[in-house]
Amino acid sequence: MAETNPFESLQEQLDDASEHLDVRDDVLERLKQPERVLEMTLSVEMDDGSVETFNAYRSQFNGDRGPYKGGIRYHPGVDRAEVKALSGWMVYKTAVVDIPYGGGKGGIELDPSDYSESELERITRSFAAEIRPLIGEDKDVPAPDVNTGQREMNWIKDTYETLENTTAPGVITGKALENGGSKGRVEATGRSTMFAAREVFDYLGKDLADATVAVQGYGNAGSVAANLIEDLGADVVAVSDSSGAIYDPEGFDTRHVKDFKRDTGSVAGYDGAAEEFGNDDLLTLDVDLLVPAALENAIDADLAEDVQADVVVEAANGPLTPDADDVLTEKNVHVVPDILANAGGVTVSYFEWVQNRQRFQWTEQRVNEELEAVITDAFDAMIDAYEDSDVPNLRTAAYVVAVRRVVDAYEGSGTWP
Ligand code: NAD
Repeated sequence: MAETNPFESLQEQLDDASEHLDVRDDVLERLKQPERVLEMTLSVEMDDGSVETFNAYRSQFNGDRGPYKGGIRYHPGVDRAEVKALSGWMVYKTAVVDIPYGGGKGGIELDPSDYSESELERITRSFAAEIRPLIGEDKDVPAPDVNTGQREMNWIKDTYETLENTTAPGVITGKALENGGSKGRVEATGRSTMFAAREVFDYLGKDLADATVAVQGYGNAGSVAANLIEDLGADVVAVSDSSGAIYDPEGFDTRHVKDFKRDTGSVAGYDGAAEEFGNDDLLTLDVDLLVPAALENAIDADLAEDVQADVVVEAANGPLTPDADDVLTEKNVHVVPDILANAGGVTVSYFEWVQNRQRFQWTEQRVNEELEAVITDAFDAMIDAYEDSDVPNLRTAAYVVAVRRVVDAYEGSGTWP
């Protein structure tokens, strides 16, 4: 897998978009750096009475369009540079789907599997106490990311509310339903991936119902996308996870595969599969649609040369290296970028925040309908930019839309000395 510096990838994407926009160089430079990054050292008591220290970060990249928004990651690879880059992508993800947020990201450098639940609770509450001056319903609204979920969000909400002596469920999203979460949140990323696939096939004059589909990564985003794309009539012929890939030219019953993975921990060994093969074989399969839904940088330039799919819809964040992106553009493969295709997660997080502010819970049907409207509007705006701005591909078109919105908000605010 290629090593690509995520912060450089972000800056390259902004440079590409700016070539098709009338943006002053000094404004562009401003938008390429975070507004502030808080770096913390947490000191937390372990179960054996010893005290361990942890490096932790929260980056607020840009708040011109609303409160900073973005997840909290627990991983040994978390560092200042990664958190900064991830917070930048959130700015453009919230802008392309036009929800009233900026971008932020946070993280703690640790492997959660090394700690007990009570240790993780103390670590999380210590982090929440440190970032408390920065966060708030109208200031910065964190969410889950790699290795964090409803449990951690509930702890952060509780710590914040206790210290502030208030109730403020909208201070964080991705909470459990009983703690102020939203219906439809768990499926939201796979659902927006399905909407993006449906829209791009429609735009290209193809029918998704007749398509063959390969999905790399059968986790939350990938399995839900596979289920919903199958519901539209497509044949999901190949899926994979970290243990291997399976293939059936007739198409899988994707919910059966999901049950099998739930019971056994993997898709490998699924008895309905005609064949098992390697992960790279899946990525280069001759299918109509490829959905990378695993990790960043899954496809580098060499692998991209062998990709045979006509359309790629990015459920994962950053699954193509910038060089791979260039190769696919050359080959006329249409790629719906991550900032739009997987924006269902942050969009339903926004709906969760709206429901928390309204103190009124929406039905799942309403959540899904509002999500569909947001994603199809964003898709249409991207296509308008693609057709009007002479951009090389859909990713640059999406960035043109997003950067334009951020620049307009920044310039419209005037200058603070
Ligand atoms: P997840 O952990 O539920 O699933 C990831 C899956 O990828 C797992 O099944 C894992 O086995 C598989 N995988 C790992 N390495 C692989 C490899 N080399 N080949 C094939 N499969 C491999 O995670 P998720 O929440 O579904 O997230 C997947 C991607 O989607 C990530 O890039 C994430 O940032 C992005 N994303 C997720 C959400 C969300 O709401 N879940 C929102 C936006 C973006």
